[in-house]
Amino acid sequence: MSHHSLRRSSTTDSLAGHTPDRLSRILPLDTSYRSSQVFSWIHRGAASFDEMTNIPKTLRTTLAGTGIPMYSSRVTGTQADPQDGSVKFSLELSDGAVIESVLLSDGKGRKTACLSSQAGCAMGCTFCRTAAMGLKRSLSPSEIAEQFMHIRKMAADTSHIVFMGMGEPLANLESVKQAVEVFHHPESYAMSHRRMTISTCGIPSGIRSLAREGPPVRLALSLITAREPLRESLMPAAGKFPLKEIKEALADHQARHRQRITLEYVLLKGINDTPEDIKALARFASGLQVLVNLIPWNPAAELPFTEPAKNDTAAFAKRIMNAGLNCVTRYGKGRGINGACGQLAAQSAR
Ligand code: SF4
Repeated sequence: MSHHSLRRSSTTDSLAGHTPDRLSRILPLDTSYRSSQVFSWIHRGAASFDEMTNIPKTLRTTLAGTGIPMYSSRVTGTQADPQDGSVKFSLELSDGAVIESVLLSDGKGRKTACLSSQAGCAMGCTFCRTAAMGLKRSLSPSEIAEQFMHIRKMAADTSHIVFMGMGEPLANLESVKQAVEVFHHPESYAMSHRRMTISTCGIPSGIRSLAREGPPVRLALSLITAREPLRESLMPAAGKFPLKEIKEALADHQARHRQRITLEYVLLKGINDTPEDIKALARFASGLQVLVNLIPWNPAAELPFTEPAKNDTAAFAKRIMNAGLNCVTRYGKGRGINGACGQLAAQSAR
């Protein structure tokens, strides 16, 4: 849909990003039963066709003979955060590009995979360190699907997915949609659409596409502020889309899928914490059913922003609620990752 998607890798896509239906068009599989078997093995992380023991040996040999790789990424490192229990995965893709995914666990034991949709990002948000990398390229469906496969191999009880890693998911929407199909399939993870969230900086055409064609995944918008000139200075590319258009697209999504939309609000001291920001936020949210996710700026990132004091954050949250909006404040766990899509790479780039 945007020029970003044209920059997809030219390397052969592996099998992991394809549903059984698609697999049957790529591989010499003559029944849907066999396609489902192969699909299921791939998402259990089988290392080779030879491991697919419920498939006749001759067919396994034929499949291996096609030379089409099952996977197009490998884990080059994992790093656990002893404080919050999150695990960061570094992945190398077949052309040498490096991306990251994170396994997050919250206090209640719920595990969420935070996936990347692009290597780098073209959006240039000033509070995000992925932005500094620029866009290398968009990821293929397999490269997205495999991130989850790797995470599930470590933690089989990972039950949720957020597209909040590197990149703008709606700038690579076709691949993201295809990966979502894989995750949702009963022969892989059978993940409900309601357990998957696409976090976007707000591309109206992409939101409308999800509204009209689905899949009915949840939406989160990195709002940051609803004061338009300020938003444009903080998010130079995303800020080009009028908030009015973004809101209309969100309303369309909500009308069709009846799901609460999350507004991500990274609180930057002295910047988006004024009474005008509250007013603008309330105006933007009126008529929508939203949850404001307030994330005090994480001072660890080497960017020119300041963390708000704890009581100022609490006061801001109170004002949001006084304006009639639901609001939660995220400290600690997964913070910096939940903030906005690129915060993930921001931390690892250090
Ligand atoms: S916050 Fe998201 S959209 Fe903005 S530059 Fe970072 S990765 Fe891209």
